[in-house]
Amino acid sequence: MDFDLSKEQKMIRDEVRKFARKEIAPKAEELERTGEYPYDLMEKMAKLGLMGIPFPEEYGGMGGDWVSLHLVIEELSRADANFGAIIDVTTSVVGQELYVFGTEEQKRKYLIPIVKGEKIGAFGLTEPDSGSDAGSLTTTAELQGDEWVLNGTKQFITNIGLDNASLVLVAARVQNEGKGDIISTFIVPKDAPGFELGEKYRKMAMHASATHEVILNSCRIPKDNLLGDPNRGFAQHLAVLETGRISIAAMAVGVAQACMEEALRWAQGRAQFGQPIFNFQAVQFKLADMAVAIELARNMYLKAAWLKDQGRQHAFEASAAKLFASEMAEKVASDALHIHGGYGFMEEYPVSRYFKGIKLLQIVEGTSEVQRMLIARTLARQ
Ligand SMILES: Cc1cc2nc3c(=O)[nH]c(=O)nc-3n(C[C@H](O)[C@H](O)[C@H](O)COP(=O)(O)OP(=O)(O)OC[C@H]3O[C@@H](n4cnc5c(N)ncnc54)[C@H](O)[C@@H]3O)c2cc1C
Repeated sequence: MDFDLSKEQKMIRDEVRKFARKEIAPKAEELERTGEYPYDLMEKMAKLGLMGIPFPEEYGGMGGDWVSLHLVIEELSRADANFGAIIDVTTSVVGQELYVFGTEEQKRKYLIPIVKGEKIGAFGLTEPDSGSDAGSLTTTAELQGDEWVLNGTKQFITNIGLDNASLVLVAARVQNEGKGDIISTFIVPKDAPGFELGEKYRKMAMHASATHEVILNSCRIPKDNLLGDPNRGFAQHLAVLETGRISIAAMAVGVAQACMEEALRWAQGRAQFGQPIFNFQAVQFKLADMAVAIELARNMYLKAAWLKDQGRQHAFEASAAKLFASEMAEKVASDALHIHGGYGFMEEYPVSRYFKGIKLLQIVEGTSEVQRMLIARTLARQ
């Protein structure tokens, strides 16, 4: 058994750590406050090839592995979770779905610009009345001549509001000639007729991550924009979400690591009762528990990513990592804020930003309850 990262994995992690510390971390507070989208930093990330790590060089990627991508997501999220979110959606989910299920023509047209970071992808599953019960979606697609016509609303869609977002992968219901209906997946370009970008949501945190509604109002796309097997569109969407869960776990570990570092620094510098509060065992124990939980969650997401790289089943490991890491990070963020006392409640201290944003990770890409349902299903299969 080998717990060491390869030379390449260490190199990319260290490079991205330096980049994130130097370029992203100093801007994180301002981005959160203004809600501006970080186009200049995305451009730098694209130049480093970060959006294309696990894809072959022939499609503009780095030919790297999923472990490396997830180390990168952790490092970016340690500086600012919004950047982990961008890569999770565009690379782990959308890029992968195009790469695994797309035709050669679709890959050339839609995947390559995403892999190179010239364009950003979005994933459209959730609807106003269909969240955890994603299979109950009501968006429809109908073939009319050489075009699919889509109608429906997709809710809470990450990335699509970015100026450089090119497309959203939409799951929609299709009537199957008297045999009931099926769910298929479609590549919907943002400039398709009938595509309407809804308002930017007013969120409680993560303001620099674009979240918008998408309205498909008789939205017309070419017949060839059906992605993969029409009967398995839902399964395709769920398959890539398995990787998204590893990415959310890596994000949670990154944020938790940042919380622990801030809390440690604060505890060593803040004096009460004539000594640094770090000297009090009650504070030390909180920090020790944080370090143990972070280490465990990191090992969990790395194992899930490693299994994926080996082409092995990782449904249990991906859900377990997402569930544990996201719940762990909420506790770590709360304890880190607590160690800051009243200062932690003030907006200029990064822990308040981490604390507000971290809840999201227990909700997106399947809530904690959904993860427990998925984990229980894997137990029943054993
Ligand atoms: C900022 C943000 C970005 C997002 N980005 C995207 C995106 O890019 N693309 C996309 O498609 N979606 C996206 N989502 C949607 C997200 O994946 C959903 O919000 C999530 O899946 C939960 O669905 P819901 O909000 O409808 O909650 P609901 O499904 O209504 O759940 C409400 C509560 O009920 C619980 N619950 C539901 N069913 C059960 C059950 N059977 N047993 C026990 N408890 C249950 C849930 O766990 C939850 O606590 C985003 C959401 C947010 C907030």
